[in-house]
Amino acid sequence: MPEPRIIANFPDCPVCKSKVTISELATADLKATGKIPKETFTMLRQNVVPLEQPTLAGVMIPCIVTIFDVCAICGTERCTRAQIVMAPVQAPPGPHNYPFRPR
Ligand SMILES: [Zn+2]
Repeated sequence: MPEPRIIANFPDCPVCKSKVTISELATADLKATGKIPKETFTMLRQNVVPLEQPTLAGVMIPCIVTIFDVCAICGTERCTRAQIVMAPVQAPPGPHNYPFRPR
């Protein structure tokens, strides 16, 4: 799978200008002890939006991913990064959406 293509980075809190996030604080011990790589980009949540019309489940399509975290100083939730990834189309629930229709 190709690496994500970063299209925007927002390292500073727009309110207090701090660079420290809650997910960085939460994973600091894990990074210090080597349980996760030090360079791992951490996050609290992400939002994935397909850039193409999904066709069949399992097909890889480009998606924009906006990544969010919370400022460790002032508590503001903020976008920290936006990137393009290739991700598989998820199968929506329901037999009417099953991709392989019998003839
Ligand atoms: Zn802040």
